[in-house]
Amino acid sequence: MSQEKAPGRRRGGLFIGRWFGIAFYLDASWFLIAAIVTYELANELFPAELPGRSPAVYIALGVIAAFLFFSSILLHELGHSLVSQRCGIPVPRITLLFIGGLAEISREPDDAKSELKIALGGPAVSVILSVLSQLLSWGFAALGWQPAAVVCGLLAMTNLSLVVFNMIPGYPLDGGRVLRALIWAKTGRLRRATYISSRIGIGFSWLLIFAGAWMLLVPPQNWRGVIYLLIGFFLKSAAEAGYANAIQREMLAGVRVRDLMTANPAVIPDTLPLNLAVEDFFLTGHYVVYPVCAADGDFRGLLRLDFLKEIPREKWPYVSAGDVVAEKSSDALRIGVNESAARAMRLLLAPELTRLAVIEDGKLVGIVTRHDILHFIEIHTELED
Ligand SMILES: [Zn+2]
Repeated sequence: MSQEKAPGRRRGGLFIGRWFGIAFYLDASWFLIAAIVTYELANELFPAELPGRSPAVYIALGVIAAFLFFSSILLHELGHSLVSQRCGIPVPRITLLFIGGLAEISREPDDAKSELKIALGGPAVSVILSVLSQLLSWGFAALGWQPAAVVCGLLAMTNLSLVVFNMIPGYPLDGGRVLRALIWAKTGRLRRATYISSRIGIGFSWLLIFAGAWMLLVPPQNWRGVIYLLIGFFLKSAAEAGYANAIQREMLAGVRVRDLMTANPAVIPDTLPLNLAVEDFFLTGHYVVYPVCAADGDFRGLLRLDFLKEIPREKWPYVSAGDVVAEKSSDALRIGVNESAARAMRLLLAPELTRLAVIEDGKLVGIVTRHDILHFIEIHTELED
């Protein structure tokens, strides 16, 4: 599965290495599923397939098979990622988590063809792995190496089920992305394409959720229902987020920062001492952030109320607003008046960044906030529906 990275989402995980410029991580939730898979293999599958061996053999085979299984998932994600990089879209990170793997592509593809290729990159790798494993399994069986034959046969089957599960045509599964790309290519309407494929994705998530609840509640109860529930809820929220994202993209297409900024905002002069800045702006206005400009209108930076907490109150009369913002890097806080609204939205998704200074020829001409953009999207969605 591949998904657009949500900017500003800070997630941990255990770093395991960097290959092809991509950072590989193990999420905390992966350890749980890895333990469950290894346990099931060592205690149920291998004793049934290869009777009469010692528990140590079953445990060793369980660990090896689980390792190969999760490596297959990583290779599947790598398949998506390498195609994505080829299409000019960087992939900063691949994570293994309870649902499998997640390649975080840095942005959505610009065209249906790239989307289709990226979506098929993962399943293509899984098909190859499945065929190779089956051939190896037959080879080992011919040599009489039964344990190796069973492990490879299992790997062939799991890679095949990975393809089948991922090709279900509901977004955000690979099959849903394929369906979306096909509708997008045929109709030219990304939002409609996302709507259809994410509806199917949400329907499929409900199926998993009901199946999970059924397994947990209806005798003979089965604790594995928890896994179905978790995967169902994860897919459901990803499908909903994907559609919201597509609406945003469509609504903001062709819109410039100029179209939705608040022009002529209140400005703190850079020479104003902090005590006066607090009295005249923060206490009387209702914002917690103000732009600071020089007398000629040159933008100096954004002064946030929380910056003042770092400075002792008795020093306020001797420190100017310009001094405070000069110490803070302000490049990330500004955007050109003719830049796209979509770029402003991407920047504003970062935590703690609620507004951007809008600049024309070095001078401040306005402020654009996350709220301005969401309001714009809301109004246009209402008008359209
Ligand atoms: Zn995939």
